[in-house]
Amino acid sequence: MNNKNKIVKAQCTDKDQESVYLSVVIPVYNEKQNISYLYENLNSVLPGIGRKYEVILIDDGSMDGTFKELLSIHEQNDNYKIIRFRKNFGQTPAMSAGFDYANGEVIITLDADLQNDPKDIPALLKKIDEGYDIVSGWRINRQDKAISRKLPSKIANWLIARLTGIKIHDYGCTLKAYRSDVVKNIELYGEMHRYIPAVASWMGISVAEVPVHHHSRKFGKSKYGISRTIRVILDIIILKYLLSYSQRPIQIFGLMGLITGLIGCIVTIYLIIMRLFFNVPLSSRPLFTLSIFMIFIGLQLITMGILGELIMRTYHEASGKPTYAIREIID
Ligand code: UDP
Ligand code: MG
Repeated sequence: MNNKNKIVKAQCTDKDQESVYLSVVIPVYNEKQNISYLYENLNSVLPGIGRKYEVILIDDGSMDGTFKELLSIHEQNDNYKIIRFRKNFGQTPAMSAGFDYANGEVIITLDADLQNDPKDIPALLKKIDEGYDIVSGWRINRQDKAISRKLPSKIANWLIARLTGIKIHDYGCTLKAYRSDVVKNIELYGEMHRYIPAVASWMGISVAEVPVHHHSRKFGKSKYGISRTIRVILDIIILKYLLSYSQRPIQIFGLMGLITGLIGCIVTIYLIIMRLFFNVPLSSRPLFTLSIFMIFIGLQLITMGILGELIMRTYHEASGKPTYAIREIID
């Protein structure tokens, strides 16, 4: 929150930033050898779009001299701005910082490792001009390892598309374009930058896909391994919860609680009837323990739902976050 205020302040003092059309946001972590090529590639495309642009490079705590490279680019070309983190916070916080700082009407994200190709930027912008809120790159010919990267990502894409109704083939592709009010209206935590279209789906968005090029990494190493799969699965669970139930926790916890509690009650009553009228002893029946247990779990779940409701309300009231999103007002 505090940081954001600082970034907003910096923005306001910069008067000639008013009319920036495109902000390109690029998280960079230990990509020393890639930076000069990245600049070359960007520079062969961005001046050609014919609108005012800026490139925001976020140095996410690099320790290999990346910052020096970035600085020399900024000195050559002041459309290139640098945000330098104190330490490595991760790709998602880096993107968040870029979004907070960006002045453009449209924001495009891409990787610094030359795997994405800036040549695809005009195609993304064309779709945004057609009126889409988000345009996602689709790496038709993805140049990554099959088992550890492509397969898990196929499954994740399928799952997220089913859970959120936002059908994108390639959530993992960083090269995406967003209308800036879409990304400025969402909060990103954990590794959620991959799912921005899904996270933003709560506000009602239109999404298009554009096939993009993808290259294999030539310099430096990937920052992720197979362990990312587990994090992705956990993120999908929380994503589903946030999208479907965060506005009404009692609906999910309460329902589970009612069902469990009800089954517990019915079984208990049945056991008591058996005891009273048919003389079946209770002490030898594990079912009795189970049914009492279910009644308590049911009560616990309902209490959790109530707590969830209170937390959700406190969140919205304390942060002043509305529970709706407006496209336009005609007065
Ligand atoms: N990155 C970052 N912080 C991190 C990890 C990665 O800023 O903690 C950047 C990295 O420099 C690159 C992009 O995020 O520009 C994607 O990372 P990487 O290429 O390692 O991911 P992959 O393409 O293997 O999924
Ligand atoms: Mg990469």
